Amino acid sequence: MGTIENQRNSSCHVLALPYPGRGHINPMLDLCSAVAQKSTDILITVVLTEEWISFIGSVRKPPNITFAAIPNVLPSELVRGADPRGFWTAVSTKMEEPVERLLDQLRPPLAIVIADAFLIWAADMAARRNIPLASLWPMSASVFTVFYHFDLLVQNGHFPINISVKGDEIVDYIPGLPPLLVRDLPKVMRKQEDAPRFLRLVPRAKFLIFSSIHQLEPQVIDALKKESPYSIYNIDPAPSYHRLNHICSSSRTTPHQENIDYLQWLDCQPPGSVLYVSFGSFLSVSAAQMHEIAAGLCESRCRFLWVTRFEKTRLEKICGEKGLVVEWCDQLCVLCHPSVGGFWTHCGWNSTKEAVLAGKPLLTFPIVMDQAPNAKIIVEDWKVGWRVKREYDEDDLASSSEIAQIVRRFMDLESPERKELTRNARQLQEVCEREFASGSFEKEVDGFATSI
Ligand code: UDP
Ligand code: UDP
Repeated sequence: MGTIENQRNSSCHVLALPYPGRGHINPMLDLCSAVAQKSTDILITVVLTEEWISFIGSVRKPPNITFAAIPNVLPSELVRGADPRGFWTAVSTKMEEPVERLLDQLRPPLAIVIADAFLIWAADMAARRNIPLASLWPMSASVFTVFYHFDLLVQNGHFPINISVKGDEIVDYIPGLPPLLVRDLPKVMRKQEDAPRFLRLVPRAKFLIFSSIHQLEPQVIDALKKESPYSIYNIDPAPSYHRLNHICSSSRTTPHQENIDYLQWLDCQPPGSVLYVSFGSFLSVSAAQMHEIAAGLCESRCRFLWVTRFEKTRLEKICGEKGLVVEWCDQLCVLCHPSVGGFWTHCGWNSTKEAVLAGKPLLTFPIVMDQAPNAKIIVEDWKVGWRVKREYDEDDLASSSEIAQIVRRFMDLESPERKELTRNARQLQEVCEREFASGSFEKEVDGFATSI
């Protein structure tokens, strides 16, 4: 069998193993770009499926990052949302072998593996080969600390959780974590049979890397740095932030030249008038809920841009003229557009950070996993958004009239309550800008790059 040579011999060859999903690959590439820029002696090989290479193979990256392909052993990304659990199972059972085969061919020898914490098998793989492991945590540090302090939840009678009995009890005993209701814990914790699965997410790694903005959850990050056995680095999304800054300054001065329909459409809308709606890169809600959302958006009479793959043509018809429905967009570009006045989101970790960085208020509608704690700890506690509903519930849909009402209130830019949201979102954006300007990001990257 031949070998895959990363350009040249070097002192430090890093293997990056992202979980195959947009919300995981983006932060992994941010991390790799930041580390690769520290030294040309660091070579990084990023392992992706062939499908993902076809999606993102042409992105701009430093020359010391190389993409290596494994075959398409997983269900296609384009249908991931149809069966997220099945996809998770496929990632857990089908990826390891082709990655092992690739490792056998990879030269020079690896100094470290950086794996997404969702790739549980990567810990065994690195241990078998005696390669140190860095674990990239794909959610907030606050959610990590909930999993990490699982024993405290058990001691306090908060696992397993019966929401209808204990949902309104307060969890205020996790170091650094602001008080939150039991019902705002990660949704995955509600089922006893899920416990082993999510506990295995707590990494068995030498290094733990957060992709957070320190100022968003300072006490949690500081407490973990003090009490946990990991070497923790918080390598926040600065590369995305720089891209966002670049987009923002150019979209303020020049209309979009690219032939991208939704950007041209946004260019024609009044400032702050458009609600951007997206539930992430793969999730969806039931058909009945989608129809309520379409009818509610239409009834609100507000302008909106909605990203969804679900029955696009039918939704377009229901939505009428004020709305544009697209299957995919460049979200950072959209969030930075001056016509976008707010973001209705499922509160995925990346979407939440991107809205904060773009300084846009949020409407939240958590669906699964870490989205409810993000809606509480980041959006509600920082007062930068409102909840459409505490969480999506198949048996208790958000109705079109509820949706129309909250969307109208949210997009009424002149109302005092909305002005306050806008002000808070700008202030939080400035807090983040100050963090980037302070150089703390560079320090964390330097710390990690020199320790590998
Ligand atoms: N795509 C997707 N999920 C992703 C990335 C891409 O489904 O996380 C699909 C999507 O339909 C998109 C296409 O692949 O239109 C190409 O993606 P890319 O990010 O390269 O966007 P482009 O700039 O080509 O529109
Ligand atoms: N995204 C995008 N275009 C879309 C939908 C999503 O670029 O049309 C990106 C978005 O900017 C974010 C990522 O996909 O970086 C989604 O990650 P998140 O953690 O918010 O949610 P997930 O999709 O993992 O649930």
